[in-house]
Amino acid sequence: MSVKKNLEQIMNRIKKASEAAGRNPDEITIVAVTKYVSNERAEEAVRAGLVHLGENRPEGLDEKKKVIVSNQVKWHFIGSLQSRKVKKVINEVDFVHSLDRLSLAEEIQKRAEHPVKCFLQVNVSGEEQKHGLSPENASEFVEELVNYDKIKVIGLMTMAPNTQDEVVLRDCFMNLRKLRDLIQEKKLPNVPCTELSMGMSNDFEIAIQEGATYIRIGSSLVGE
Ligand SMILES: *Cc1c(COP(=O)(O)O)cnc(C)c1O
Repeated sequence: MSVKKNLEQIMNRIKKASEAAGRNPDEITIVAVTKYVSNERAEEAVRAGLVHLGENRPEGLDEKKKVIVSNQVKWHFIGSLQSRKVKKVINEVDFVHSLDRLSLAEEIQKRAEHPVKCFLQVNVSGEEQKHGLSPENASEFVEELVNYDKIKVIGLMTMAPNTQDEVVLRDCFMNLRKLRDLIQEKKLPNVPCTELSMGMSNDFEIAIQEGATYIRIGSSLVGE
C-alpha cells in the first residue's frame, strides 16, 4: 500500500477519534516513524506530505538525513539516547522524545547549539524493560532542569504496554496526561510542558481520546 493511501486512512481515523473526544484533529501531529523502512520509502512519506519524521537510532537518522534534504522536514529522535551519542545527534534533530535522566540533560546542555524541544520519557506502566522516569521522579526531575537553557521541555512521552486491553492503554495515557497537567502547573522556566507524545499504530485512537498531541506511527503508515 502506498504511504499516501495509508495516510488517508490514518487521517480518517484521527478525525473520527478526535471528534469522538470533542477535539480538533489539527491539534494532532503525526510523526512518521521511518526506522523500519528504506530511504526510498521515507522519501515517499515526505512526498505524501508528511513533515515530521522519527528515527530511533543515530545511524538511522544519519542515513535518512543524507537522502532527505528537504528543509521542511522536522526530525524527531524517538529512541533511547546514549550520552556518548548526543554530540552526533543533538544538532541534527528538532525534537527529542527520550529525555529520561540528568546525565543526558547535562550532555545535551553541553553539546546543543540551540535550545532543543524535548519530551520527558515517562515509564507510566512501570514495566521493567522500558526506559523512562517513574511518574514520581518525573515531577521532581523537571525542577532540576531550570538551569539548562538548551533544554525546552515541551511535554511528556510514553510507550504504552504491548497489549490490546483498552482499559490498560487508556489508563496509561490518562496518567501521562494528569502528570503533564501537574508539571505544566508548576510554570517553570523552559518547561511549558503542553504536549503529549503518545500513541502508536496499535493504540493511537485511544491516545487521541486521552489528549495526545503527537502520535508516533510506523508500521501502519510507512510499513514494518
Ligand atoms: C517504533 C516506534 C514507534 C512506532 O511503532 P509502530 O507500532 O510501528 O507504529 C513509536 N514510538 C517509538 C518510541 C518507537 O520506537
